[in-house]
Amino acid sequence: SISRSDDVRAARMQLPILAEEQRILEAVLLHPVVVICGQTGSGKTTQVPQFLYEAGYGHTDSQNPGIIGITQPRRVAAISMAARVAEELSLPPTIVSHQVRYEATAGSSTVVKFMTDGVLLREMAADFLLSRYSVIIVDEAHERNLNTDILIGTLSRVIKLRAEMWLQGKAGAKPLRLIIMSATLRVSDFVENTILFNIPPPIIEIETRQHPVTIHFDRRTRSDYVTQALAKAVKIHSRLPPGGILIFLTGQQEIVGLCRKLERRFGYQVIHKKLERRRRETTLPPLPNLFPQPKEEILSSSRADWDVEVEEMEFNNQAPDLGADIDEGREQNSDNDALDTDEEEIVDSDNNYGTRDNDIEVPMHVLPLYSLLSSEKQMAVFKPPPEGSRLVVVATNVAETSLTIPGIRYVIDCGRAKERNYDAASGVQTFQISWISKASAAQRAGRAGRTGPGHCYRLYSSSLFEHYFDEHSKPEILRTPIEGVVLQMKCMHIDAIVNFPFPTPPDRTRLQRAELVLTRLGAIEKSLGKRSSQITDLGLLMSAFPVEPRLGKMLANGTQHGCLPYVIAVVAVLTVGDPFLREEELGLDGQDNEESEDQRRRRALFFEKQKLHSQLGGGRSDAFRLLSIIGAFEYAGGSTEFCREHFIRPKAMEEIRKLRRQLSAIASSVLPQADPQFVAKLPPPNALQLKVLRQVLAAGFIDQVAVRKDIVEKGPSGNKYASSRNVAYRAVDVEEDVFIHPSSILYHQPPPEYIVYREIVRGTRTWLKIVTVVNVA
Ligand code: ADP
Ligand code: MG
Repeated sequence: SISRSDDVRAARMQLPILAEEQRILEAVLLHPVVVICGQTGSGKTTQVPQFLYEAGYGHTDSQNPGIIGITQPRRVAAISMAARVAEELSLPPTIVSHQVRYEATAGSSTVVKFMTDGVLLREMAADFLLSRYSVIIVDEAHERNLNTDILIGTLSRVIKLRAEMWLQGKAGAKPLRLIIMSATLRVSDFVENTILFNIPPPIIEIETRQHPVTIHFDRRTRSDYVTQALAKAVKIHSRLPPGGILIFLTGQQEIVGLCRKLERRFGYQVIHKKLERRRRETTLPPLPNLFPQPKEEILSSSRADWDVEVEEMEFNNQAPDLGADIDEGREQNSDNDALDTDEEEIVDSDNNYGTRDNDIEVPMHVLPLYSLLSSEKQMAVFKPPPEGSRLVVVATNVAETSLTIPGIRYVIDCGRAKERNYDAASGVQTFQISWISKASAAQRAGRAGRTGPGHCYRLYSSSLFEHYFDEHSKPEILRTPIEGVVLQMKCMHIDAIVNFPFPTPPDRTRLQRAELVLTRLGAIEKSLGKRSSQITDLGLLMSAFPVEPRLGKMLANGTQHGCLPYVIAVVAVLTVGDPFLREEELGLDGQDNEESEDQRRRRALFFEKQKLHSQLGGGRSDAFRLLSIIGAFEYAGGSTEFCREHFIRPKAMEEIRKLRRQLSAIASSVLPQADPQFVAKLPPPNALQLKVLRQVLAAGFIDQVAVRKDIVEKGPSGNKYASSRNVAYRAVDVEEDVFIHPSSILYHQPPPEYIVYREIVRGTRTWLKIVTVVNVA
């Protein structure tokens, strides 16, 4: 039996999904696949696993002894939802557990397991029938993540197989049930896709008491949306009744910047000081200290999302300012609560504080929220703000559907999101800020109507919205490289990828590209008389590691001369991302008008530290620079002090260490001859090991080679250059000239003839990132 605390019981009573418990359990009993649609915050993620648990799923003596698995697209969600459900059920994390790439509480006594979709996919490579599970809940299916889509495709087959085995009376065989959960009603790609499910699964719709949200469009769409967001927040804060404000921006840098600005003007300390001063002037007794613990400086949590943010310095694909000249009225009449947007133009630039600030006596409780923030800091949004303050959360898409922040009454939506795109023919990636879809805009607005009537301020015009916003966002499978999942499918012996029941099939060129890359890497091959390629022994070994195929190949190849610990370190850092802070993040990008003495000193120090780690292996490799920083960090005892001094992100270093440990553990079972004992402190590699490392890198990036253009054109004599800046290269499969990115240590050196690169990204130019010289004797 279950003991829930009074608080939990009261909170559950508020959740609309509670009324549907019987209907859901019945549907799950009668149908192998059930779809549940319900607005964000209706209780799907926290409650459905509890319904199943209470109905006996996962109990060894029941009809359905297998565990209850729930997949999430995001690590944070897997961790925080497991913690929440454990708390609601008053059960320990050994029973209600999580498992993500870097950590797990799951073990042999786990009954309810939250995991990322990638974790479950990997489990299927080892146990395709998922025999330990009785039910799998695929959450956030509306997001259409790559892994989620693939999971739904593979699970559709597993369900059939498990049902057949059960009908045939195989010993111990039980059917597997699948629950697909979505925050929107757009599920036709799953429900009406007869290749996926020949009998359409029933849809259970959760009615939500959504309060009305008034939408306010801006009359004009401007490109300086961060400034507009600031102005809007100030206006709401100074004029409108209490209630949290949720601001949607596109990335960490914008978020940290805006948080800092709000904090500087309306942070607790600022307001408190002002009020104190006023009291003193009027000789009133001092103000009681309402907030005994001043908030931590927001900057300290700053860590860039390397994967996505790399491009920030070179965005040239600003979303078009199409609505700029269109004048129009407000979309809907606002009630008394609303800001009168027509009333005046907001000119509230950063330096022009105006007199309005002076009247504000309520402090803001400002919290950033983005995916790479530590989970502990992310959880801060669930806590009530200090009494007498206004909660202001500045977030990315994370707050759109996967986390529900209590108490939000106002939403400010910039209408944009950062999107990764990928050209299948060349492998070139682009990162751009694009308009969100109408569906996303509706989700964002909905965040304001959870606790009462709310308002959503859209920082764009209604005509822009009508004409330039897509109805729905594009599934990820159409936007990213898929060789990783194709390799996993081959591991599961799903060889004819074209026949796979994708919810949205990628076009053939993408599938072909993935197979081409895997063939070049030696992970798959076509044997005589077979129509589709199959996994090789090397491919199998590569796929044992939870990293992308190229990096898996480096591990599989890196066993000579005691090299494996170094290969593991390089792979870990390439997976986690560049741990160095960038100039902009240090406020050293020259954006501030005058640079102080202090900033000048920091800048000099920054470059000095960068140089310090550029020496390994002759200073001709970004990969070695990254290896060097890991070595130095661990020798210094892995302290945050070291991170501060060397301008690196502590959280990234922590993840790198966790991944090294994990890869070492896997290697000791699949590559025992290489003796990959995990030791945090690595001695510097010797010359031979560096040579092997270069070869291993070259083998992993065998088709990501670039040759200096003059060498291609004129032969080995080539030109003489002093620096790599503006020197064109030619890369395999890529039509246009490509260049070494300014963040590379090679940028300031004479350009090598041949390099391999980690990534190719189109921005102001087509850049090669994380490069390594390979033709060194
Ligand atoms: P859905 O999955 O339908 O979006 P959830 O099950 O995630 O809904 O959320 C249900 C409720 O539980 C929400 O009101 C949310 O704020 C609350 N909640 C979720 N996690 C926590 C937490 N860690 N602490 C407090 N409340 C939480
Ligand atoms: Mg949810």
